[in-house]
Amino acid sequence: MNEHDSEKLAGILLDKGLEKAENEKEADIIILNTCAVREKPVHKVYSELGRFKRTNKIIGVCGCVAQKEKKRLIEKMPHVSFVLGPRNIYKIHEALTKALEGNKSIYTEQNGRCPITDLSFQIDRKNPYRAYITIMEGCDNFCSYCIVPFVRGREVSRPSKEIVEEAKRLAELGYKEVTLLGQNVNSYGKGLPEKIDFPDLLYKLHEIDGIEWIRFITSHPKDFSDKLIDAILSLPKICEYIHLPAQSGSNRILDLMNRKYTKERYLEIVEKIRRSGKYFAFTSDFIVGFPTETKEDFEETLDLVKRVKYEGIFAFIYNPREMTKAYNWKDDVPLEIKKERLKILLEIQDRITEELSNSYVGKEVEVLLDEFDEKEGELTGRTRTFKIVKVKGDKSLLGNIVKIKITEAKMYELKGKILGGN
Ligand code: SAM
Ligand code: SF4
Repeated sequence: MNEHDSEKLAGILLDKGLEKAENEKEADIIILNTCAVREKPVHKVYSELGRFKRTNKIIGVCGCVAQKEKKRLIEKMPHVSFVLGPRNIYKIHEALTKALEGNKSIYTEQNGRCPITDLSFQIDRKNPYRAYITIMEGCDNFCSYCIVPFVRGREVSRPSKEIVEEAKRLAELGYKEVTLLGQNVNSYGKGLPEKIDFPDLLYKLHEIDGIEWIRFITSHPKDFSDKLIDAILSLPKICEYIHLPAQSGSNRILDLMNRKYTKERYLEIVEKIRRSGKYFAFTSDFIVGFPTETKEDFEETLDLVKRVKYEGIFAFIYNPREMTKAYNWKDDVPLEIKKERLKILLEIQDRITEELSNSYVGKEVEVLLDEFDEKEGELTGRTRTFKIVKVKGDKSLLGNIVKIKITEAKMYELKGKILGGN
């Protein structure tokens, strides 16, 4: 999501006639787009800002740290010219104009939505074949550990007409794949005047000629309806890749986290999808060392990981965040134990990832090729299950979906031979 916000920021500035600098040294303006989910990236923002103290460049801060810190950021770092929360990034040019006149500005309004409509056709997308599309902003879930609802604001869905228009435009520009973005894409449609939900949106997007593959992040298990499962299983453009953050395998911890599902319900979703017979790659997020987490709770997490057999996970040590409910609770799992649990979890996952990677060898997979290494004469792309594949081939294949036979597997990367393409 932050990556895509950066694409929007760059798009607006390019549209206003600014040019991209080759590197930091040559830049006249430096904008940090920031994340506040854990404390460490917040510290990193301050230390990065410290580096720019004695330059005469214009410095701006956008994103979640901007929203969280507001004017405190300028008080601590007087060389910062503007602070823009995630809902306000469309004001970047206004903020910059003020900065050039020597004035500071702070935009942290959170009501309503960031008018993405105006932005959608100016986005400076990094990849010419696969694109992100924002379908909703903010989050209403208030998981007890999470700062996102406080820094990204209330959940607002984007009208489907706009999303469809953006996808059509992307197809015309030659994009083959779209990834629909939202903190909880499954609750898409809530609060819109039109009667629409996330599966309905998928059916609409599926009709667009030229868009071959559709992905979405992030799904919340509590809103993963049977209607959505039907859509995923019946629409061929939807990739066999689902990021479904579990956070924990213990029902007691899930309840404390305010996640509103149980381990059994989570497994039921995975089972329903797997029962179709089609192979789906699942990935997930986990937090270890949540307040009161016992050895037994942690073992439930390990059990879930072994049962689902994820292709990959992101695992984090619990980090208390201001404003959240859990911030008021004792952070009672010692750091040593948190680190040990993280290590055990990642070791188990590595074995599963390796086993699943090896299982690709000998298989024929479709790959959207989107990078070319001139020196190596090698193309890189992703499978429908989001696995990275490298293959020798001609640059002219860039942007094509080709059939590849996998001949070699590393943990996070496959190699293969091209069989054919479209
Ligand atoms: N909306 C997505 C969801 O519900 O899964 C995820 C959004 S969050 C930005 C990304 C991940 O950061 C979460 O899935 C969670 O695992 C992790 N995270 C959030 N707050 C955290 C905290 N206080 N400590 C450690 N990890 C945290
Ligand atoms: Fe945070 Fe939960 Fe919302 Fe995800 S669903 S952004 S974890 S509050």
